[in-house]
Amino acid sequence: MEIESKCLHLAQKTNAESMDRSGALSFPIYQSATFGHRGLGESTGYDYTRMQNPTREHLENTIKELENGIDAVAFSSGMAAIGAVMELFSAGDAIIADMDLYGGSVRLFENISRKNGVAVMQLDVNKQDVEAAITTATKAIYIETPTNPMMRVIDIKKLADLAHRHGLLLIVDNTFLSPYFQNPLDLGADIVIHSGTKFLSGHHDTICGFVVVKDEKLADKMRFILKTTGAGLSPFDSWLVVRGIKTLSVRMEKEAENAMELAKWLKEQKKVKKVLYPGLPEHEGFEVMKNQSRGFGAMLTFVVDSKETAVKLLEKVELITFAESLGGCETLVTYPITQTHPDLSKEQLDRCGITDCLLRLSVGLENVEDLKKDLAHALED
Ligand SMILES: *Cc1c(COP(=O)(O)O)cnc(C)c1O
Repeated sequence: MEIESKCLHLAQKTNAESMDRSGALSFPIYQSATFGHRGLGESTGYDYTRMQNPTREHLENTIKELENGIDAVAFSSGMAAIGAVMELFSAGDAIIADMDLYGGSVRLFENISRKNGVAVMQLDVNKQDVEAAITTATKAIYIETPTNPMMRVIDIKKLADLAHRHGLLLIVDNTFLSPYFQNPLDLGADIVIHSGTKFLSGHHDTICGFVVVKDEKLADKMRFILKTTGAGLSPFDSWLVVRGIKTLSVRMEKEAENAMELAKWLKEQKKVKKVLYPGLPEHEGFEVMKNQSRGFGAMLTFVVDSKETAVKLLEKVELITFAESLGGCETLVTYPITQTHPDLSKEQLDRCGITDCLLRLSVGLENVEDLKKDLAHALED
Protein backbone atom coordinates (compact mmCIF):
# COMPACT_ATOMS: atom_id res chain seq x y z
CA MET A 1 0.00 0.00 0.00
CA GLU A 2 1.30 3.48 -0.84
CA ILE A 3 1.63 6.17 1.81
CA GLU A 4 -1.49 8.20 0.87
CA SER A 5 -3.59 5.05 1.32
CA LYS A 6 -1.79 4.13 4.53
CA CYS A 7 -2.91 7.46 6.02
CA LEU A 8 -6.50 6.22 5.60
CA HIS A 9 -6.38 2.44 5.85
CA LEU A 10 -4.48 -0.05 7.95
CA ALA A 11 -3.04 -3.09 6.19
CA GLN A 12 -3.98 -5.22 9.18
CA LYS A 13 -7.13 -4.70 11.19
CA THR A 14 -6.62 -4.10 14.88
CA ASN A 15 -8.23 -6.24 17.52
CA ALA A 16 -10.89 -3.59 18.20
CA GLU A 17 -11.69 -3.13 14.53
CA SER A 18 -12.29 -6.79 14.03
CA MET A 19 -14.66 -6.69 17.03
CA ASP A 20 -16.65 -3.72 15.67
CA ARG A 21 -19.69 -4.84 13.69
CA SER A 22 -21.22 -1.44 13.01
CA GLY A 23 -19.04 -0.66 10.00
CA ALA A 24 -18.28 2.84 11.31
CA LEU A 25 -15.74 4.68 9.14
CA SER A 26 -14.68 6.98 11.96
CA PHE A 27 -12.82 4.89 14.50
CA PRO A 28 -14.71 4.86 17.83
CA ILE A 29 -13.40 6.71 20.87
CA TYR A 30 -13.11 4.03 23.55
CA GLN A 31 -13.48 6.36 26.52
CA SER A 32 -12.93 3.63 29.08
CA ALA A 33 -10.33 3.42 31.83
CA THR A 34 -10.69 -0.30 32.31
CA PHE A 35 -11.92 -3.38 30.39
CA GLY A 36 -13.80 -6.45 31.62
CA HIS A 37 -12.38 -9.96 31.65
CA ARG A 38 -14.54 -12.89 30.57
CA GLY A 39 -12.77 -15.22 32.97
CA LEU A 40 -9.46 -15.88 34.67
CA GLY A 41 -6.65 -15.38 32.18
CA GLU A 42 -9.11 -14.26 29.45
CA SER A 43 -8.13 -10.73 28.47
CA THR A 44 -9.70 -9.12 25.38
CA GLY A 45 -6.23 -7.69 24.74
CA TYR A 46 -7.23 -4.56 26.65
CA ASP A 47 -6.92 -4.44 30.43
CA TYR A 48 -6.38 -0.85 31.52
CA THR A 49 -6.00 2.29 29.38
CA ARG A 50 -2.61 3.27 30.78
CA MET A 51 -1.33 0.12 29.05
CA GLN A 52 -3.65 -0.42 26.07
CA ASN A 53 -6.62 1.39 24.61
CA PRO A 54 -8.30 0.47 21.29
CA THR A 55 -8.38 4.06 19.96
CA ARG A 56 -4.76 4.67 20.89
CA GLU A 57 -3.82 1.29 19.43
CA HIS A 58 -5.48 2.19 16.13
CA LEU A 59 -3.43 5.39 16.00
CA GLU A 60 -0.23 3.59 17.01
CA ASN A 61 -0.72 1.02 14.26
CA THR A 62 -1.22 3.80 11.72
CA ILE A 63 2.03 5.52 12.80
CA LYS A 64 3.86 2.18 12.87
CA GLU A 65 2.89 1.55 9.25
CA LEU A 66 3.69 5.09 8.12
CA GLU A 67 7.20 4.84 9.62
CA ASN A 68 7.78 1.18 8.66
CA GLY A 69 8.42 0.21 12.28
CA ILE A 70 7.31 -2.84 14.24
CA ASP A 71 5.80 -0.80 17.07
CA ALA A 72 4.80 2.80 17.77
CA VAL A 73 3.89 4.13 21.20
CA ALA A 74 1.69 7.23 21.53
CA PHE A 75 2.51 9.65 24.35
CA SER A 76 0.72 12.67 25.78
CA SER A 77 3.26 15.07 24.19
CA GLY A 78 6.40 15.11 22.12
CA MET A 79 8.37 15.90 25.27
CA ALA A 80 6.78 12.92 27.07
CA ALA A 81 7.96 10.75 24.15
CA ILE A 82 11.52 12.12 24.37
CA GLY A 83 11.48 11.74 28.16
CA ALA A 84 10.39 8.11 27.75
CA VAL A 85 13.23 7.43 25.30
CA MET A 86 15.69 8.88 27.81
CA GLU A 87 14.45 6.26 30.32
CA LEU A 88 16.26 3.68 28.16
CA PHE A 89 19.52 5.04 29.60
CA SER A 90 21.09 4.77 33.05
CA ALA A 91 23.34 6.90 35.23
CA GLY A 92 26.83 6.85 33.74
CA ASP A 93 25.63 6.60 30.14
CA ALA A 94 26.44 9.30 27.61
CA ILE A 95 24.69 10.52 24.48
CA ILE A 96 26.04 12.53 21.58
CA ALA A 97 23.48 14.98 20.21
CA ASP A 98 23.60 17.45 17.37
CA MET A 99 24.05 21.07 18.45
CA ASP A 100 20.87 22.26 16.76
CA LEU A 101 17.79 20.76 18.45
CA TYR A 102 14.30 21.72 19.57
CA GLY A 103 14.80 23.97 22.63
CA GLY A 104 12.65 21.75 24.85
CA SER A 105 14.88 18.77 24.10
CA VAL A 106 17.96 20.73 25.17
CA ARG A 107 16.13 21.78 28.37
CA LEU A 108 15.29 18.12 29.10
CA PHE A 109 18.86 16.94 28.45
CA GLU A 110 20.49 19.68 30.52
CA ASN A 111 18.16 19.58 33.50
CA ILE A 112 16.48 16.19 33.80
CA SER A 113 18.88 13.82 32.01
CA ARG A 114 21.95 15.37 33.59
CA LYS A 115 20.39 15.19 37.08
CA ASN A 116 19.78 11.50 36.40
CA GLY A 117 23.43 10.98 35.50
CA VAL A 118 23.02 10.77 31.71
CA ALA A 119 25.47 13.15 30.04
CA VAL A 120 24.35 14.65 26.73
CA MET A 121 27.15 16.20 24.73
CA GLN A 122 26.14 18.48 21.85
CA LEU A 123 28.30 18.98 18.79
CA ASP A 124 27.94 19.77 15.10
CA VAL A 125 27.58 16.24 13.73
CA ASN A 126 28.17 17.48 10.17
CA LYS A 127 31.39 19.35 10.84
CA GLN A 128 32.90 17.93 14.04
CA ASP A 129 34.45 14.49 14.49
CA VAL A 130 31.66 12.38 16.01
CA GLU A 131 33.80 9.25 16.10
CA ALA A 132 36.41 10.98 18.24
CA ALA A 133 33.72 11.99 20.76
CA ILE A 134 32.55 8.39 21.33
CA THR A 135 33.66 6.84 24.64
CA THR A 136 32.84 3.54 26.33
CA ALA A 137 29.97 5.36 28.09
CA THR A 138 28.34 6.48 24.81
CA LYS A 139 25.08 4.70 24.07
CA ALA A 140 23.34 6.75 21.39
CA ILE A 141 23.44 9.57 18.86
CA TYR A 142 20.46 11.94 18.81
CA ILE A 143 19.54 14.21 15.88
CA GLU A 144 16.83 16.13 14.05
CA THR A 145 16.97 16.72 10.27
CA PRO A 146 16.36 19.28 8.94
CA THR A 147 17.32 20.95 12.20
CA ASN A 148 15.34 23.41 14.26
CA PRO A 149 15.56 26.30 13.50
CA MET A 150 18.67 26.43 11.29
CA MET A 151 17.45 23.91 8.67
CA ARG A 152 20.78 22.06 8.49
CA VAL A 153 20.47 18.68 6.82
CA ILE A 154 22.11 15.61 8.38
CA ASP A 155 22.87 12.46 6.40
CA ILE A 156 20.90 9.83 8.36
CA LYS A 157 22.39 6.78 6.63
CA LYS A 158 25.95 7.94 7.11
CA LEU A 159 25.36 8.62 10.81
CA ALA A 160 23.50 5.30 11.27
CA ASP A 161 26.49 3.41 9.81
CA LEU A 162 28.84 5.22 12.16
CA ALA A 163 26.54 4.59 15.16
CA HIS A 164 26.23 0.89 14.39
CA ARG A 165 30.00 0.43 13.92
CA HIS A 166 30.27 1.48 17.57
CA GLY A 167 27.20 -0.38 18.84
CA LEU A 168 25.21 2.83 19.42
CA LEU A 169 21.56 3.60 18.77
CA LEU A 170 20.66 6.34 16.31
CA ILE A 171 17.65 8.36 17.49
CA VAL A 172 15.98 10.72 15.00
CA ASP A 173 13.32 13.31 15.84
CA ASN A 174 11.38 13.31 12.55
CA THR A 175 8.83 15.98 13.51
CA PHE A 176 9.78 18.52 10.82
CA LEU A 177 9.08 16.27 7.82
CA SER A 178 6.60 13.73 9.21
CA PRO A 179 6.62 10.17 7.86
CA TYR A 180 5.06 11.51 4.68
CA PHE A 181 8.38 12.93 3.53
CA GLN A 182 11.00 10.95 5.46
CA ASN A 183 11.37 7.50 7.05
CA PRO A 184 14.52 7.43 9.22
CA LEU A 185 14.09 3.76 10.20
CA ASP A 186 14.49 2.79 6.53
CA LEU A 187 17.72 4.79 6.44
CA GLY A 188 19.18 2.94 9.43
CA ALA A 189 17.87 4.83 12.47
CA ASP A 190 16.84 2.69 15.46
CA ILE A 191 14.32 5.01 17.10
CA VAL A 192 12.10 7.66 15.54
CA ILE A 193 10.46 10.34 17.66
CA HIS A 194 7.63 12.66 16.66
CA SER A 195 5.91 15.57 18.20
CA GLY A 196 2.54 14.54 16.77
CA THR A 197 1.31 17.96 17.86
CA LYS A 198 2.73 19.28 14.59
CA PHE A 199 2.19 17.87 11.08
CA LEU A 200 0.68 14.53 12.11
CA SER A 201 -2.32 16.01 13.91
CA GLY A 202 -2.00 19.09 11.69
CA HIS A 203 -4.73 21.35 13.07
CA HIS A 204 -3.16 23.07 16.11
CA ASP A 205 -5.67 21.31 18.36
CA THR A 206 -3.84 18.44 20.09
CA ILE A 207 -0.61 17.78 21.97
CA CYS A 208 0.91 14.34 21.43
CA GLY A 209 4.11 12.43 20.77
CA PHE A 210 5.35 9.12 19.33
CA VAL A 211 8.23 6.72 19.64
CA VAL A 212 8.62 4.25 16.77
CA VAL A 213 11.07 1.31 16.75
CA LYS A 214 11.93 -1.60 14.49
CA ASP A 215 13.41 -4.02 17.05
CA GLU A 216 11.41 -6.33 19.36
CA LYS A 217 13.61 -5.77 22.40
CA LEU A 218 13.37 -1.99 22.10
CA ALA A 219 9.61 -2.25 21.57
CA ASP A 220 9.29 -4.28 24.79
CA LYS A 221 11.34 -1.71 26.68
CA MET A 222 9.24 1.20 25.37
CA ARG A 223 6.00 -0.63 26.27
CA PHE A 224 7.39 -1.23 29.77
CA ILE A 225 8.30 2.45 30.13
CA LEU A 226 4.81 3.50 28.96
CA LYS A 227 3.12 1.14 31.41
CA THR A 228 5.38 2.21 34.27
CA THR A 229 5.63 5.98 33.80
CA GLY A 230 2.12 6.37 32.40
CA ALA A 231 2.19 9.23 29.88
CA GLY A 232 0.06 7.49 27.23
CA LEU A 233 -2.13 9.55 24.89
CA SER A 234 -5.80 9.82 25.87
CA PRO A 235 -8.50 8.13 23.74
CA PHE A 236 -10.02 11.43 22.59
CA ASP A 237 -6.67 12.95 21.61
CA SER A 238 -5.78 9.69 19.84
CA TRP A 239 -8.97 10.04 17.82
CA LEU A 240 -8.12 13.65 16.86
CA VAL A 241 -4.70 12.57 15.58
CA VAL A 242 -6.22 9.68 13.60
CA ARG A 243 -8.52 12.22 11.98
CA GLY A 244 -5.64 14.59 11.28
CA ILE A 245 -3.53 11.89 9.60
CA LYS A 246 -6.31 11.19 7.08
CA THR A 247 -5.32 14.41 5.28
CA LEU A 248 -1.56 14.25 5.98
CA SER A 249 -0.61 13.65 2.35
CA VAL A 250 -2.57 16.55 0.84
CA ARG A 251 -1.53 18.90 3.61
CA MET A 252 2.18 18.06 3.32
CA GLU A 253 2.18 18.39 -0.47
CA LYS A 254 0.43 21.75 -0.49
CA GLU A 255 2.35 23.18 2.46
CA ALA A 256 5.69 22.16 0.94
CA GLU A 257 4.67 23.69 -2.40
CA ASN A 258 3.75 26.95 -0.64
CA ALA A 259 7.03 26.87 1.32
CA MET A 260 9.11 26.49 -1.84
CA GLU A 261 7.29 29.39 -3.47
CA LEU A 262 7.70 31.61 -0.38
CA ALA A 263 11.39 30.70 -0.04
CA LYS A 264 12.03 31.88 -3.61
CA TRP A 265 9.98 35.03 -3.06
CA LEU A 266 11.64 35.91 0.27
CA LYS A 267 15.07 35.72 -1.40
CA GLU A 268 14.08 38.68 -3.56
CA GLN A 269 13.03 40.92 -0.68
CA LYS A 270 15.31 43.84 0.16
CA LYS A 271 15.25 43.38 3.94
CA VAL A 272 15.73 39.62 3.80
CA LYS A 273 19.41 38.75 4.05
CA LYS A 274 19.24 34.98 3.91
CA VAL A 275 16.67 32.22 3.36
CA LEU A 276 17.30 28.79 4.84
CA TYR A 277 15.16 26.25 2.98
CA PRO A 278 16.66 22.90 1.96
CA GLY A 279 14.59 22.84 -1.23
CA LEU A 280 16.66 25.71 -2.67
CA PRO A 281 19.43 24.18 -4.82
CA GLU A 282 22.03 26.49 -3.26
CA HIS A 283 21.24 25.12 0.24
CA GLU A 284 24.17 23.14 1.64
CA GLY A 285 21.97 20.13 2.40
CA PHE A 286 20.02 20.06 -0.87
CA GLU A 287 21.67 16.95 -2.37
CA VAL A 288 21.58 14.88 0.84
CA MET A 289 17.96 15.80 1.40
CA LYS A 290 17.01 14.96 -2.18
CA ASN A 291 18.40 11.46 -1.58
CA GLN A 292 16.97 10.76 1.85
CA SER A 293 13.58 12.50 1.75
CA ARG A 294 10.61 12.60 -0.61
CA GLY A 295 10.08 16.33 -0.14
CA PHE A 296 11.61 19.39 1.47
CA GLY A 297 8.87 20.12 3.98
CA ALA A 298 7.00 23.23 5.04
CA MET A 299 9.48 24.79 7.47
CA LEU A 300 11.71 27.65 6.48
CA THR A 301 13.88 30.10 8.35
CA PHE A 302 14.97 33.52 7.19
CA VAL A 303 17.27 36.25 8.40
CA VAL A 304 16.25 39.92 8.18
CA ASP A 305 18.50 43.00 8.24
CA SER A 306 17.85 44.03 11.85
CA LYS A 307 16.12 43.17 15.09
CA GLU A 308 13.82 46.13 14.42
CA THR A 309 12.66 44.59 11.13
CA ALA A 310 12.05 41.24 12.83
CA VAL A 311 10.04 42.74 15.70
CA LYS A 312 8.01 44.91 13.33
CA LEU A 313 7.21 41.94 11.12
CA LEU A 314 5.93 39.98 14.13
CA GLU A 315 3.63 42.88 15.03
CA LYS A 316 2.44 43.63 11.52
CA VAL A 317 1.50 40.21 10.14
CA GLU A 318 -2.25 39.77 9.98
CA LEU A 319 -3.03 36.58 8.05
CA ILE A 320 0.02 34.88 9.50
CA THR A 321 -0.11 34.26 13.25
CA PHE A 322 2.82 35.09 15.51
CA ALA A 323 2.87 31.95 17.64
CA GLU A 324 4.94 29.05 18.82
CA SER A 325 4.49 25.60 17.27
CA LEU A 326 4.32 24.45 13.66
CA GLY A 327 2.81 21.94 11.30
CA GLY A 328 -0.84 23.05 11.32
CA CYS A 329 -3.07 24.27 8.50
CA GLU A 330 -2.48 27.94 9.36
CA THR A 331 0.84 29.67 8.68
CA LEU A 332 2.75 30.63 11.82
CA VAL A 333 5.76 32.82 12.31
CA THR A 334 8.00 32.13 15.29
CA TYR A 335 10.82 34.11 16.88
CA PRO A 336 13.18 31.31 17.98
CA ILE A 337 15.37 33.46 20.24
CA THR A 338 12.51 34.20 22.65
CA GLN A 339 9.97 31.47 21.86
CA THR A 340 11.49 28.07 21.17
CA HIS A 341 15.07 28.58 22.37
CA PRO A 342 14.88 30.96 25.39
CA ASP A 343 16.75 28.55 27.67
CA LEU A 344 19.86 28.38 25.52
CA SER A 345 22.93 30.21 26.77
CA LYS A 346 24.45 33.05 24.73
CA GLU A 347 27.25 30.68 23.75
CA GLN A 348 24.81 27.98 22.57
CA LEU A 349 22.80 30.55 20.59
CA ASP A 350 25.95 31.87 18.92
CA ARG A 351 27.15 28.38 18.07
CA CYS A 352 23.82 27.59 16.35
CA GLY A 353 23.57 31.01 14.70
CA ILE A 354 20.28 31.90 16.41
CA THR A 355 20.16 35.71 16.44
CA ASP A 356 17.50 38.37 17.02
CA CYS A 357 17.24 38.74 13.21
CA LEU A 358 16.12 35.14 12.70
CA LEU A 359 12.48 34.23 11.99
CA ARG A 360 10.95 30.81 11.37
CA LEU A 361 7.88 30.11 9.26
CA SER A 362 5.66 27.06 9.37
CA VAL A 363 3.91 27.42 6.05
CA GLY A 364 0.24 26.49 5.96
CA LEU A 365 -2.52 25.99 3.43
CA GLU A 366 -3.45 29.60 2.63
CA ASN A 367 -3.23 30.88 -0.93
CA VAL A 368 0.44 31.66 -1.39
CA GLU A 369 -0.28 35.09 -2.92
CA ASP A 370 -2.12 36.09 0.24
CA LEU A 371 0.90 34.98 2.30
CA LYS A 372 3.24 37.06 0.12
CA LYS A 373 0.97 40.11 0.47
CA ASP A 374 0.93 39.73 4.25
CA LEU A 375 4.72 39.40 4.45
CA ALA A 376 5.30 42.24 1.96
CA HIS A 377 3.14 44.53 4.11
CA ALA A 378 4.92 43.43 7.28
CA LEU A 379 8.32 44.11 5.68
CA GLU A 380 7.39 47.61 4.47
CA ASP A 381 9.15 50.64 6.00
C1 LIG B 1 7.36 20.61 19.25
C2 LIG B 1 8.55 19.74 19.15
C3 LIG B 1 8.88 18.84 20.18
C4 LIG B 1 8.09 18.76 21.47
O1 LIG B 1 6.80 18.31 21.25
P1 LIG B 1 5.52 18.69 22.15
O2 LIG B 1 4.44 17.94 21.49
O3 LIG B 1 5.37 20.17 22.09
O4 LIG B 1 5.81 18.23 23.54
C5 LIG B 1 9.97 18.02 19.98
N1 LIG B 1 10.71 18.08 18.85
C6 LIG B 1 10.44 18.95 17.85
C7 LIG B 1 11.29 18.97 16.64
C8 LIG B 1 9.34 19.81 17.97
O5 LIG B 1 9.08 20.67 16.98
